[in-house]
Amino acid sequence: MKILFPVSECVPYAKTGGLADVAAALPEALVRLGHEVHVVMPLYRQVKSSGVKLLSASQPLPITLGDRVISGRAFRARKTCKALTRHFISCDEFFDRPEMYHSPEGDYLDNDQRFIFFCQAVLALGQNLGIKWDIVHCHDWHTGLIPVYLKTQSARKPAYARARSLMTIHNLAFQGLFPKSSFALTGLPGSFFAPEGLEFWGRWNFLKAGLVYSDWINSVSRTYAEEIQTPEAGCGLDGVLRNRCRVLSGILNGVDYSLWNPEEDPYLPVHFQAGRMGPKAEIKARLLTEQGLHPAATAPLIGIVGRLDNQKGFDILAEIIGKIMNLNIQIILLGTGMKKYHDLFLRLKAKFPGKMALILRFDNALAHKIYAGSDLFLMPSRYEPCGLGQMISMRYGSIPVVRRTGGLADTVIDFNGYQGNGFTFGPYTGEALLGTLKHALGVFKDKPAWTRLMKNAMSADFSWERSAGEYQKLYQKIISQ
Ligand code: ADP
Repeated sequence: MKILFPVSECVPYAKTGGLADVAAALPEALVRLGHEVHVVMPLYRQVKSSGVKLLSASQPLPITLGDRVISGRAFRARKTCKALTRHFISCDEFFDRPEMYHSPEGDYLDNDQRFIFFCQAVLALGQNLGIKWDIVHCHDWHTGLIPVYLKTQSARKPAYARARSLMTIHNLAFQGLFPKSSFALTGLPGSFFAPEGLEFWGRWNFLKAGLVYSDWINSVSRTYAEEIQTPEAGCGLDGVLRNRCRVLSGILNGVDYSLWNPEEDPYLPVHFQAGRMGPKAEIKARLLTEQGLHPAATAPLIGIVGRLDNQKGFDILAEIIGKIMNLNIQIILLGTGMKKYHDLFLRLKAKFPGKMALILRFDNALAHKIYAGSDLFLMPSRYEPCGLGQMISMRYGSIPVVRRTGGLADTVIDFNGYQGNGFTFGPYTGEALLGTLKHALGVFKDKPAWTRLMKNAMSADFSWERSAGEYQKLYQKIISQ
């Protein structure tokens, strides 16, 4: 299949979140299955400073925005494999800025123009390449207009004659909402500004455009795909999603096991695997010493790595953290985010010296050591479209304790003494979290059971190969419908 893959960010060129990891790994896995993939993203300043060597494409990309014609250009990275091309849409006026989406004052005020331009430029480039596309796989709100254009102005172009569109929701909370006054810049007929089209309570909504006009919609886990059809998790778009439930499904993201592998992780001083767990204890001991915790402690070590945000469940953790600190445990927390959580954890660290290590920054090397050195990994998220932390921690034999939501519900199976790979709780309360954590700590004392549990977790397969196989099946289904 020939797959056009527009996305706003991609590792290693520019990244603000997990979307960039998906945009790097999924196309590579699709290429390994024999497909041809063209990733297209904006040429941000971050791309220029990433050191990528850019090759220029010959044809310019003139894009009409209201009464202006803005000339874009396309570049591509030198190929590392024949079937995978990474293109960059350049327009310095829009993309050569310190940050990708916002200034210190807030979102860039012209984000509507920037991404209308991007969506149109992607389709213009797709035509110039002289390829007849099978699938246009869009991601999140920045690409939401592409499915509409495929049904309107691009519908009769030979490049898109047989193309089908897929809209993947990585996080429904980000939708791209803009005032009615900028709608005309889309070039779409005024009749599309309506509740059954792009209108959203008096404004217009990029993501809604993608949800209404794409041929298929998916999200990054089956459970999240169900949850977003409810008012509680639907962010105002649950009605739209319920209307399209026949073409809505979920596929879990994968883990890049070439980066996350306890057998040869370059960030670890020693290595381990399911049949040879001894070195894990050494990693834990070194981590405790490095972080100022009591090294000889037999207490289980609870790891937490993530954004300090309400989405991640830090509000319910805050409710009961005092009680947790009185248990026979140690905690290592790596994260950055909301100031109120920085302050809370700083107070706790001072109150319980030697029991809690707190590292308030982004530190990939340390994250590797925490996944490897912890006994348990805590992720009590309020909602979680897919979640990566729980899948990574399992590979390192660090047992996840999670709330049963979104991708956490689809990957963590309660341990019953023999089967299962972690511990889950349902209600979004501190009490439920504490109850499950205490249960997990009870199992930790039963060494044979804990060893079985670690083996189960470490052998779970969340590879990109598995995800890409599911995407391949979905593409085939969309094409044949
Ligand atoms: P989200 O994308 O919502 O932030 P995920 O669990 O899907 O959450 O992915 C988060 C990724 O970012 C994980 O790989 C995690 O290890 C990493 N991460 C988050 N915060 C930090 C941090 N402070 N330092 C290092 N890595 C982090």
